[in-house]
Amino acid sequence: MWIMPDFDSSLQWIADQLPRMRTLVERWSNINSGSCHRPGLAAMTDELDHAFSQLNAQTARIDLPPFPTITDDGQTVRQPSGQALSVHHESAGPTRVLLNIHMDTVYGPDQPFQTVREIDADTINGPGVADAKGGLAIILVALEALQRSDVADQLTWEVLINPDEEIGSPGSIDLLRQAAARNDLGLLYEPSISPDGLFAAARKGSGNFTVVVCGQAAHAGRAFHDGRSAIVALADLVQSVHALNGQFDGATINVGQIHGGTAINTVPDRAVCRINIRITDQAHAPELEQHLRALTSRINQRDGLTAELHGSFHCPPKPMSDAALQLFGHLRACGDALGQTVEWADTGGVCDGNKLAAWGLPNIDTLGPRGGAIHSDREFLILPSLVGRAQLSALFLMKLASGQLKWMSPSDQSMHPKSIAQ
Ligand SMILES: [Zn+2]
Repeated sequence: MWIMPDFDSSLQWIADQLPRMRTLVERWSNINSGSCHRPGLAAMTDELDHAFSQLNAQTARIDLPPFPTITDDGQTVRQPSGQALSVHHESAGPTRVLLNIHMDTVYGPDQPFQTVREIDADTINGPGVADAKGGLAIILVALEALQRSDVADQLTWEVLINPDEEIGSPGSIDLLRQAAARNDLGLLYEPSISPDGLFAAARKGSGNFTVVVCGQAAHAGRAFHDGRSAIVALADLVQSVHALNGQFDGATINVGQIHGGTAINTVPDRAVCRINIRITDQAHAPELEQHLRALTSRINQRDGLTAELHGSFHCPPKPMSDAALQLFGHLRACGDALGQTVEWADTGGVCDGNKLAAWGLPNIDTLGPRGGAIHSDREFLILPSLVGRAQLSALFLMKLASGQLKWMSPSDQSMHPKSIAQ
């Protein structure tokens, strides 16, 4: 491999970092940082603050506002957020890059899946190894490599690590919006969408909704007919919601959780369901929301029952834009130089890349490691990909810093004739 002498030595240095990257990923994955587990998120923030403080950059912990959430028994409460971590390096270079990934995982502290184990010499299994603690290690090492090169001071970059992506980034949304506004392009470190390393191209949009039904409690034996069952009313609604599948092109409607009742001999006065909707066409969002509203109000017409709909479409679809295609072209050129294949495909998953793109920040959002079975206790990470992916990012950043890769969003090209996109 010969790319440029200076780049080459930084890339070679990354090749030697695998044992250290593995140690970091295992250490971080053994810390439970479920999205609602504040002590674990605080411990992760300490770890990341320490690791990223070694860079020539300014590090800051940012308090995030609490956000409303509906509990399993239907109460609206304000949930405290963890902290975000920002790492920032300013230079005179013309391009500003955002590197973003989350520190939270979908695994709470009460779940059995808590620790990392080796599957074979090249593969580990553990909570968050791929999504997204491997990505955190890749960002760190790619930036270290950039800083070892001669072009370190020719690129302005910031790392934003948020604690709530897995629940839709309710506390960090303003931070993300501000970061989208002040940067030119985004690199996000979600894992690849397939074990062989496919990147995400277009992504669906997503909405989360909660329906809370209140009825009338009564003794199941003495006063059954005085009761009004929230569970029965909710069950009717669930059937109707599920029947919306197939009515909107590219949309899926999943009733993912249901809670209700207190004791088997009590007519249940409370039932709650949570619904996730995925759409390819943003135009379907208001129509689908209207259906949910109509089905909810149908319960309100029944004697002794009330229902409320909460939630929204929080994440717009991410279509493959001209700007994203241009970014992928640059990434593929870096992959070619490294002997890596860069291919992409559409996916139904969503991430913060959806929001950033909707706010005008072109981004590639799956620069994290190769792995799979994320959001399950089979989640795995392919260890050598930590090195390959860090090299890919480092080369991209070094080329951007050196001016070999000139970037501007296609929408800006007419306004900034000084730069010419390759
Ligand atoms: Zn993720």
